[in-house]
Amino acid sequence: METREKIVIIGGGFAGLQLAKTLNNKNKKVIVLDRVNHHMFQPLFYQVACGRIEPSNISFPFRKIFQQSRNTQFRLTEVKEIIPSQNKVIADGAEFSYDKLIIATGCKTNFFGNKEMESKAFGMKNTQEAISIRNHVLMTFERLILEKSRSDDGNWNIVIVGSGPTGVELAGAFSEMKKEILPRDYPYMNFDHLKIILVSSTEKPLAVMSPEAQTQSEKYLKDLGVDFLSGEYVTEYDGDRVYMKSGKQIASNNVIWAAGVIGNVIDGFSQENILKNRYITDRFNKIKGFENIYAIGDISYMETPKYPQGHPQVANVAINQAKNLGKNILKKSNSEWSEYEYDDKGSLATIGKHRAVVDLPFIKFQGFLAWYFWMFLHLMLILSVRNKLAVFFNWMWSYFNKDSSLRLIILSNKKNGTLQ
Ligand SMILES: Cc1cc2nc3c(=O)[nH]c(=O)nc-3n(C[C@H](O)[C@H](O)[C@H](O)COP(=O)(O)OP(=O)(O)OC[C@H]3O[C@@H](n4cnc5c(N)ncnc54)[C@H](O)[C@@H]3O)c2cc1C
Repeated sequence: METREKIVIIGGGFAGLQLAKTLNNKNKKVIVLDRVNHHMFQPLFYQVACGRIEPSNISFPFRKIFQQSRNTQFRLTEVKEIIPSQNKVIADGAEFSYDKLIIATGCKTNFFGNKEMESKAFGMKNTQEAISIRNHVLMTFERLILEKSRSDDGNWNIVIVGSGPTGVELAGAFSEMKKEILPRDYPYMNFDHLKIILVSSTEKPLAVMSPEAQTQSEKYLKDLGVDFLSGEYVTEYDGDRVYMKSGKQIASNNVIWAAGVIGNVIDGFSQENILKNRYITDRFNKIKGFENIYAIGDISYMETPKYPQGHPQVANVAINQAKNLGKNILKKSNSEWSEYEYDDKGSLATIGKHRAVVDLPFIKFQGFLAWYFWMFLHLMLILSVRNKLAVFFNWMWSYFNKDSSLRLIILSNKKNGTLQ
């Protein structure tokens, strides 16, 4: 008969995985449920999309992570509903009971209800989507060379919507690909026509960072030949053309939507538990109105005096909320629990080789030092020594050769696999 408290964690992202690690080999029974079989390091998805690193370098199978654990199990399943009155989770093919439930389901791409956009543009919220972008962009050039089209219709343009860190990093990486890699791979094509276009509703890129970072990143984008369209709202995309509120249109078969995320809320809660598509929690990450259900990471909405509008949806918050909750769960009495307080360590983004911007609480800097700092920090955060080495090796290889050999087109079925 099981006497240990049973803790079910939905989602093995930054928050869920950190919580499982904090509870590892402790006197609790832990079950992690995720709809994919691997933890994903999302900050480097853009490098998968541009063929810089292998997906396996930043994806870690849960079964391998928990191989040595004495108290943690993993189940590959999508959670459909929670029935709090019965302490029950309804998932695809199975049901799970719990003593404590932790929801760490993160976010998905927010297309703001535009179904056509959702079906035609690419999001970048999971490994599959990052690989799909790589396949699709490379297939564009393969088709063009077969058709001997010289692209005057502009359809090979790469349009990125949203100028937050993801949009800016993608734009920088694609423009380096255009300069250094594509002319070598496709020597008979003229890439002068290929435009990398970053569409932004704000006046400057990286609106969440300091004015210094915004000005410098705008300069970097210009240096790299990225067309930065500021103050523009994308309203429609039909697969061939992007339409903007101002009336402007851009031809493109390659549109990547990096303009926002929305929480993966699961059925079973009333609207009073949810705000801005996130679960409203107290300072212990407990969902309003429940004694044994918690939300951590991007899906948690916690107001504090320092963050009256909730915390930013970033990895640091997710990891530290998980650490705090894990330590609390292991305490003997609830009276010993500590409130969560976000310690903002700053933010950073890279816009290409030797170009990065860093905002730390005590200093802001840009340029090649910032770029090395960015690389070092990301290497430190990647799981497993093997993956750190693999990413480091790939980065060094492209640093010296301005190339990589990872531009594989791997399509999932026979129909898509044909060049048509
Ligand atoms: C492209 C990109 C770049 C980013 N870059 C940075 C960066 O540079 N720095 C930074 O701090 N942050 C960055 N972020 C944000 C950061 O990744 C998130 O803040 C962080 O992942 C949040 O962690 P989480 O655990 O809450 O959610 P996630 O890491 O998203 O994990 C959620 C997990 O839940 C699973 N899941 C969801 N729904 C279900 C369900 N119904 N059933 C079962 N499983 C489910 C998902 O498969 C996933 O594994 C980036 C995000 C993206 C998309």
